[in-house]
Amino acid sequence: MQNSKELSTWLDDLKLEHPLVIAGPCSAETEEQVLKIAHELKDSDVSYFRAGIWKPRTRPGNFEGVGALGLKWLQKVKAETGLKTATEVANRAHVELALEHDIDLLWIGARSTVSPFIVQEIADALEGTDKIVLIKNPVNPDLALWLGAVERLSSANIKNLGVIHRGFSTYEKSKYRNNPEWQLAIELQTRFPDLPLINDPSHITGRRDMVFDVCQTALDLNFDGLMIETHYDPDNAWSDAAQQITPKTLIQYTKDLKIRKESTTEADYTSELQNLRAQIDVADNQLLDTLGKRMKVAEAIGALKKEKNVAVLQSKRWNEILGKMVLEGEQHNLSEEFILKLFKAIHQESINHQKQILKS
Ligand code: PEP
Ligand code: MN
Repeated sequence: MQNSKELSTWLDDLKLEHPLVIAGPCSAETEEQVLKIAHELKDSDVSYFRAGIWKPRTRPGNFEGVGALGLKWLQKVKAETGLKTATEVANRAHVELALEHDIDLLWIGARSTVSPFIVQEIADALEGTDKIVLIKNPVNPDLALWLGAVERLSSANIKNLGVIHRGFSTYEKSKYRNNPEWQLAIELQTRFPDLPLINDPSHITGRRDMVFDVCQTALDLNFDGLMIETHYDPDNAWSDAAQQITPKTLIQYTKDLKIRKESTTEADYTSELQNLRAQIDVADNQLLDTLGKRMKVAEAIGALKKEKNVAVLQSKRWNEILGKMVLEGEQHNLSEEFILKLFKAIHQESINHQKQILKS
């Protein structure tokens, strides 16, 4: 991995006074559509105009993109509006065509990041480029796979790198199209604090009415930018219709979103953050303390069970606890999903402790 400072200069060089905004349609559909959206975004906070040319669709039979033809439309966008251009590349041929058409920013999609072979092919094709390359998180919540892609590109001497957080697919039902799993993005940010981190609220939510809130959360977490799908007629978009917003809405959002960094001086911000982090540390230590105490009680129960020769797992009692905790959790604004996961983990640890006692 290169020195992370080298990784970040492209964003600093833009000298923006607000987070980076990349916007444009999910897919380029027609020349008119592309140009109309670009003109509506021209005098806004948007720096890069995005449009998918090759669309990786999960199921066949859907619109799969206009192909290389769309690259000419993006060139027109740049010539007419001055916006820089961005598109997704998924193999060597895409990279070569995008470079030939002088696309400014290339991103690797979530379905490509999962494949080390594809990522390596793209890295080899881009070797030494000074274009900006952004890597979307893989579809599955696997930080190593995401980092691996950053490393492959970095090793190919690509300096202007960044990552896009677009959420993760789950089998379980969720209000999101792709669960944000914010902790994964935060972990990546902690490991590479200078690697620009962009949020993609469109693919996280899958619904336009949730886009604003996800943008705000991302900015509260110090993300460096947003990539937002934008179409003048979202409902009739050829792909991802439900999640796109109009250029007018996007411009309003850029005005309404709170950029925490700017609302306070750097010093105030730092001391406030330190204070809040200290509170988190205290709370974490209390949690560990409490868990340790709980385990001691579990062990005492284990000893009692051993004496009476009773089974460790008492499912009726356990289900009662879970039900009660879910209700209690609600009062503390903790989701059922979280409470279930948390208490399952605690319960497993208790069982392990009790088993040790029974064995002894
Ligand atoms: C897209 O940006 O339109 C796209 C296909 O995104 P993802 O790779 O995140 O699914
Ligand atoms: Mn899309």
